[in-house]
Amino acid sequence: MARITVVSPMYNEEQSIASFLEALILVLSACTTHYEIVLVDDGSTDQSFHVARTIAEQNENLRIVRLSRNYGKEIAMTAGLDRSTGDYVILMDSDLQDPPELIPALLDKISEGYDMVYAARQNRHGETWFNRASSKMFYRVASRLNGYSFPENAGDFRIFSRRGLNLLIELREHNRSLKALYSYVGYHVGSVPFDRPRRSSGRSKYNYLKRIEDGLDATISFSTRPLRLMSLASLGVSLAAFLYAISVFVQKIFFGASITPGWASLMLVMTVMFSVLFFFLALLSEYVGRTLIESKQRPLYYVREEFCSGQSNSTKAVEQV
Ligand code: UDP
Ligand code: MG
Repeated sequence: MARITVVSPMYNEEQSIASFLEALILVLSACTTHYEIVLVDDGSTDQSFHVARTIAEQNENLRIVRLSRNYGKEIAMTAGLDRSTGDYVILMDSDLQDPPELIPALLDKISEGYDMVYAARQNRHGETWFNRASSKMFYRVASRLNGYSFPENAGDFRIFSRRGLNLLIELREHNRSLKALYSYVGYHVGSVPFDRPRRSSGRSKYNYLKRIEDGLDATISFSTRPLRLMSLASLGVSLAAFLYAISVFVQKIFFGASITPGWASLMLVMTVMFSVLFFFLALLSEYVGRTLIESKQRPLYYVREEFCSGQSNSTKAVEQV
């Protein structure tokens, strides 16, 4: 019988984690006897870890990996995927926005032979118009910029075959966007539709700044196409400037035009040129910064302790930091 692993990142979810785990365990035990849940505590500062640990003491299929600090969702998910052992691995949020009831449908679909099947959001309750519009824009721009396609209605809720997941686990870059990595691997992908509910409790950990950061990771760190665009644009701007210079020269020398001290046009050219220049410099520094981080080749994360009551060293925490 196929073994199923559910990987779920958790950051300050003390209000929802118990009901999430309860619902999840109910669904999983109806599907199979061979399952494990890898819950990654991404440096929660509330009681999330302790609440989850109390549940893990009663259920030996639940393993909690407590990271040394808050690394962000992408790294937390990676830490969980690294530890998954199942033939099928499901990735889902721990705030009940990804309904566990969809798991049987995901399992059915992936058994048709896909590498990965994602849960496609039919609607997104509780998200503002701006949120939806900006994420739509982001997917469009990101697909154009890095040349890989992102399904617009996909979050992180998905299931992998073991073969598919092994390909992903090998990619160890720091500035990571799993969604960009999926498209890089080029999976044979299926989807299952679902209605995404509102958050039942607590608040989203994502603000606009964080979304912009993630957006940059998914685009800039992912391909050098923006650099190429930058070179092409600067070529265009230099060409225009050169043509303008020639026209001024021709007017002055051959037609004796009295070039009036054109403060306005000068300012226009200066401001346009400088803003283009600063934009390019900013883009370049984004790349330099990322190269610096990757060149250090540090581990992606450190684990503070792992808890699983089913193991012999169970109740003792394994300190790794
Ligand atoms: N999360 C995490 N680390 C973080 C931020 C979020 O592990 O730094 C987890 C969080 O506990 C939740 C999931 O990632 O299970 C999605 O986060 P959130 O609900 O805040 O995002 P949204 O659903 O609003 O996109
Ligand atoms: Mg959420």
